[in-house]
Amino acid sequence: MAAATHTATTPVRLSEYYFPTLKETPAEAELASHKLLLRAGFMRKTAAGVYTLLPLGWRVVRKIEQIVREEMDAVDAREMRMPILQPRELWDESGRWNDYGPELMRLHDRHEREFCLGPTHEEIITALIAADIHSYRQLPFCLYQMNTKFRDEIRPRFGLLRGREFLMKDAYSFHATPESLSEYYEVQAAAYGRICDRMGLIWRRVEADSGQIGGKVTAEFMALADAGESDIVYCDCGFAADIEVFQGDQSDEARAAAADEKQAGECVPDVDATPAVCPTCGQALQRARGIEVGQVFEVGPKYSQAMGVNYTDESGVEHPIIMGCYGWGITRSLAAAVEQHNDEAGIIWPVGIAPYEVCVIRLGDDEAVAAAADALAAELASAGVEVVIDDRAERPGVKFNDADLIGWPVQVVVGARGLAAGTVEVKLRATGDKHDVACAESATHIQALLS
Ligand code: ATP
Ligand code: MG
Repeated sequence: MAAATHTATTPVRLSEYYFPTLKETPAEAELASHKLLLRAGFMRKTAAGVYTLLPLGWRVVRKIEQIVREEMDAVDAREMRMPILQPRELWDESGRWNDYGPELMRLHDRHEREFCLGPTHEEIITALIAADIHSYRQLPFCLYQMNTKFRDEIRPRFGLLRGREFLMKDAYSFHATPESLSEYYEVQAAAYGRICDRMGLIWRRVEADSGQIGGKVTAEFMALADAGESDIVYCDCGFAADIEVFQGDQSDEARAAAADEKQAGECVPDVDATPAVCPTCGQALQRARGIEVGQVFEVGPKYSQAMGVNYTDESGVEHPIIMGCYGWGITRSLAAAVEQHNDEAGIIWPVGIAPYEVCVIRLGDDEAVAAAADALAAELASAGVEVVIDDRAERPGVKFNDADLIGWPVQVVVGARGLAAGTVEVKLRATGDKHDVACAESATHIQALLS
């Protein structure tokens, strides 16, 4: 487990916190992540596909944003901020005012000027750089933002996995040559892998590149989960593909063989044309469903051509600027993490994105117990551990249940019986492992668990 911070913090008292938990599962929620984020008081629904993030949910968002920010900064992308409100004229220039369809949230101002709420920002950024970038000497560079996006999704189900208002990190890189773009595309893809790892996601990079001429170069980062909407095949060697793209890519012989097999009346399961072996290493392929948490894309000159954005090369010749786009779903990846890490009792936060790392559960309101719980929390906090104290006037059972539902990675029970023996009980949410630790060593012990 890797602790998120090392700067001193202050313990947070749950008696003064706002995390309204629910006993019953809200009827509209089908998926574990949706149910648990509502039940554990991380969010509330405001309208279909529109959520309020409560303090716990917002803290996780900020943890994810910080991971993404660090990884973007590390690949020389520069954070900026673009408006959500976007004028129609820019979307007319790219042709997408018509092409985008009903997912685009459209509105107009008091002068009847038309706008949309940005579902993505290619138009804004292309128009932005058009005014300032003219020479190959100014390329390449990459800009990114964390911002709210709007898409009027036809089926805004599944909570944060498919919202109509959601948070995305979107990065855009600009290049003089396709080689420069391809090189940077891989740098971004590597950053995406690190983001997945730091978030504790079980993931695969899925090439959407069909390899055919005119095929687009793009990869999707998939969090493996049964709730996912994508069907993928993958192999331990690292190969992974969307099942449809993969079947489309099979050789004619393989397709013919699969067809023969079907005609011969063989018992072949559902997605029957799936060949059993990996095209890279020959091992048996595995199948899974995936949630797309991010996508990297070699867009090329599409927008710069449509919007007339050129640079001049060394010999004074003009060319369209070449672009790459890199989207990461902040709120979707939060839900994907919960989808992967939960049990009957609740959420099991990976420590890197947990709202807080440790919950000190105070049993009863005995003064000595309260003093010991406060002292332990203060010691942990001063060492940079993010800690809450459950100092509410609730029964032990309620506190234990809430702790498991919310999913604090480390729970420390401080009670009169343990104190009499000079110990506290430390529980790891992920494994359920419980052990007694001497009071004097407890802070050091917990820090070691988190490092
Ligand atoms: P999908 O196919 O799932 O609709 P997309 O391919 O249209 O997604 P992109 O345009 O690639 O999405 O957006 C970048 C990232 O933004 C996605 O990888 C996903 O993580 C996130 N995202 C897209 N749509 C939504 C949504 N409706 N709710 C939450 N996150 C979303
Ligand atoms: Mg996508």
